[in-house]
Amino acid sequence: SSSSMTLWVFSVALLVLMDSTTATAELGWTLYPAQGWEEVSGYDENMNTIRTYQVCNVFDSSQNNWVRTKYIRRRGAQRIHVQMKFSVRDCSSIPNVPGSCKETFNLYYYESDSDVASKSSPPWMENPWVKVDTIAADESFSQVDLGGRIMKINSEVRSFGPVSRNGFYLAFQDYGACMSLIAVRVFYRKCPRVVQNGAVFPETLSGAESTSLVAARGVCVPNGEEVDVPIKLYCNGDGEWMVPIGRCMCKAGYEAVENGTLCRACESGFFKAAQGDHGCQQCPINSRTTTDGATNCVCRTGYYRSDADPPQMPCTTVPSAPQSVISMVNETSLQLEWSPPQEAGGREDVVYNIICKSCGSGRGGCTRCGDNVQFVPRQLGLTDGRVHISDLLAHTQYTFEIQAVNGVSDQSPYSPQFTTVNITTNQAAPSAVSIIHQVSRSPSSITLSWSQPDQPNGVILDYELRYHEKNQAEWNSSLTRSQTNTAVVRSLRPGTIYIFQVRARTVAGFGRFSGKMYFQTMTEEEYKSSLQEKLPLIIGSSVAGVVFIIAVTVIIIVCRRGSERQESEYTDKLQHYTSGHMSPGMKIYIDPFTYEDPNEAVREFAKEIEISCVKIEQVIGAGEFGEVCSGNLRQPGKREILVAIKTLKAGYTERQRRDFLSEASIMGQFDHPNIIHLEGVVTKSSPVMIITEFMENGSLDSFLRQNDGQFTVIQLVGMLRGIAAGMKYLCDMNYVHRDLAARNILVNSNLVCKVSDFGLSRFLEDDTSDPTYTSALGGKIPIRWTAPEAIQYRKFTSSSDCWSYGIVMWEVMSYGERPYWDMSNQDVINAIEQDYRLPPPMDCPSALHQLMLDCWQKDRNNRPKFSQIVSTLDKMIRNPNTLKAMTPLSSSVHLPLLDRSTPDFSSFSTVDEWLDAIKMGQYKENFASEGFSSFEAVSQMSMEDILRAGVTLAGHQKKILNSIQSMRAQMNQITSVEV
Ligand code: AMP
Repeated sequence: SSSSMTLWVFSVALLVLMDSTTATAELGWTLYPAQGWEEVSGYDENMNTIRTYQVCNVFDSSQNNWVRTKYIRRRGAQRIHVQMKFSVRDCSSIPNVPGSCKETFNLYYYESDSDVASKSSPPWMENPWVKVDTIAADESFSQVDLGGRIMKINSEVRSFGPVSRNGFYLAFQDYGACMSLIAVRVFYRKCPRVVQNGAVFPETLSGAESTSLVAARGVCVPNGEEVDVPIKLYCNGDGEWMVPIGRCMCKAGYEAVENGTLCRACESGFFKAAQGDHGCQQCPINSRTTTDGATNCVCRTGYYRSDADPPQMPCTTVPSAPQSVISMVNETSLQLEWSPPQEAGGREDVVYNIICKSCGSGRGGCTRCGDNVQFVPRQLGLTDGRVHISDLLAHTQYTFEIQAVNGVSDQSPYSPQFTTVNITTNQAAPSAVSIIHQVSRSPSSITLSWSQPDQPNGVILDYELRYHEKNQAEWNSSLTRSQTNTAVVRSLRPGTIYIFQVRARTVAGFGRFSGKMYFQTMTEEEYKSSLQEKLPLIIGSSVAGVVFIIAVTVIIIVCRRGSERQESEYTDKLQHYTSGHMSPGMKIYIDPFTYEDPNEAVREFAKEIEISCVKIEQVIGAGEFGEVCSGNLRQPGKREILVAIKTLKAGYTERQRRDFLSEASIMGQFDHPNIIHLEGVVTKSSPVMIITEFMENGSLDSFLRQNDGQFTVIQLVGMLRGIAAGMKYLCDMNYVHRDLAARNILVNSNLVCKVSDFGLSRFLEDDTSDPTYTSALGGKIPIRWTAPEAIQYRKFTSSSDCWSYGIVMWEVMSYGERPYWDMSNQDVINAIEQDYRLPPPMDCPSALHQLMLDCWQKDRNNRPKFSQIVSTLDKMIRNPNTLKAMTPLSSSVHLPLLDRSTPDFSSFSTVDEWLDAIKMGQYKENFASEGFSSFEAVSQMSMEDILRAGVTLAGHQKKILNSIQSMRAQMNQITSVEV
């Protein structure tokens, strides 16, 4: 029978190798000797029939009875457990039993790779048999009637190992007991296949020793993932799993079910974003799943999630437009208030952006406002429904778009919803003039000057001066007007105190009057005595012959001596001011080189400044004679001001010093808001310095290049107007500039342009090699800016300055483009000789180009006077409609040089080159990344595409759009030629 070999699961932890109780027939174990153990049928506790082995030879001494099981296969077990049920008769309960009676027996095993045992082999003795233990009956027993006798049944378990052969035999040795071996069960222990901590552990056999721990690697259940460390369990000697290490969790899109033994895909409409023990969650509002096992829910069309939104947050949408906008205009500022949008899109991060467009500025349509408009608290990302906007242009129509955006607006293909407000700013009058100076006086006249108001709020058209005798009533006042900030008030009574007030006028009307200032005319006596006192000096002057210069000199001296004014009750209210170089009503420039000693001219026209008043801050540029620095000037009794400081580098020659300081002696004679103002010179210490007012925006050419396309036409015309006003003043002073160019105009923080650079040295032949200035007979000349007669025969006049002014206009309207581009000087001269002229720059109103062409008249007598230019520009500013018309390409009669403003695209091999050529190289990367890398693609670009390429400045958009249009036109030509 093979019944003893049957293997079945006894419990989860046990595998039975042999069980004697299941035998239905004879067990047939091997007995030795024949009269020892015998196989007997009996009953177990439950009265089931079983096969047992009995022996009871207690009355014969020297017993050695063996019973050997059949061959038992090991089946991978390393440690074998043997459970024995047996009963032993108490020796004392047997009458007359000899002393050799035993109550124990021995358990042995013998390993073998195959069933080779026979009746005599292995020999019946310890070694080769291995003794496991001597077994004694224990206390616990139950009683059973074995054939009528009541017996105690013991149960003992013993184990042995490691075993390594294919199988083994067991043997039970009796050496003189009266006993019955009722049941033998042989088993080994294992840890069963188990799903624990999200992993499957295979069935694992216990180790060879009872204390062994056998490690088993778990495998995560399908769609589970190990967390951190490899997952392990240990199987102990009793077949128990212990010491779990690590664990598996269901991955994203799967949840644990059935006590963590399965990871099941999330059902439709549910998602699980990450690995973990938590279950699938229902999709948030406005989202859905597309498959089972979703790790996230996708938003429904029109709904979005921002990068920061967690996946369980509902999908949201863009806000609707802000509501109930209220606008309150106050002169040139504006308060806007609005209520939140009706529909916030389901989010709480709605903010507002303000888009400012000014309309009707002359370019037609609306353009984005420049950077100068101020937004408080800011323009973009406003959190409250309120913004204060200031520094708008007076009397201008604006459109404001109040956009509502939230965290998902950038994902929507549509632009944000907005509410539009149209407003027109009021006219704002200029602020008041702060101070009036007396320039000079005579018995019948006083010459006054004043500075431009801090806030002109537009182009100042003229000033109104109101004055009356101090002893008369105010209603008796006289009025006089002045185009500049100086005025000569005549027909006054000698030795009389007058009260003056001045106010500026712009298109918005008059500003407030300044405070009252008191000035007194000379008495006849004062006048006469001062003339007589100085007469001998005049006769000695070396510049006799130039009559009016003598006269001027007379007055200079008169004024200087006249400063010892007689004390009056108004002395402290009177403005002490002595400029010392102007005669009443006559302004004339004096060439410092007409002085025998040019140092005398410097002393005459430039104030010496104490070096301790000057604080140099930093180097801002390179002048011809040395560095140009910015710094502070603090003079006793005056407010500290920002200044520019030109220095004369060490090691200069006497001639260089003279040339350097000549600029100060020239500048010092001027006093006009559009002429750079000289503060003074430092000549008594080294280095020698010229100190002027500070112009925050530096020179006009580079300023325009840095702000390409960013000004309105009105702003540009305002700049040109300032330059023209400065030139008119110089012209009135009989001063010819000779080097009027955008590089020699300085710009301050209020965009006021001032003419500068009165140095003469540039024109001297031995000057260093600046290529702008070309050597010509008798000096160097900036060819591109210079009128033909000045180039040809050095005829420099205010009319040749007018030609240069036309070139400056062209530079301004083209935002600092180089006149005549890269043409050579000789080509420029030839082109001008053949009546070619520069074409209008892009977006240049034709009225302005016409004015340029007027400045470029061949006959200098036909060129406009600066006073005419100023009034023409003023008319344009007052009536911006005149600036609307643009010159259509190729229609003008004069026309002109090649139009190089939109270059021929076919001369470029790549879009990058083309962008460089139109000075839009900064957008190269954007074009490439948006896929506009071929001319075909570029030629198809729409305004939206241009915006998408990151071109947000209106000026740049126009430039690119224009160039694309000309590219299209050129492409069409090419195609038709090929066809
Ligand atoms: P100049 O020698 O006058 O051509 O000056 C050289 C450079 O210094 C100019 O191009 C300006 O950038 C700078 N600069 C000169 N004068 C001033 C000023 N008054 N304010 C600011 N920058 C100035």
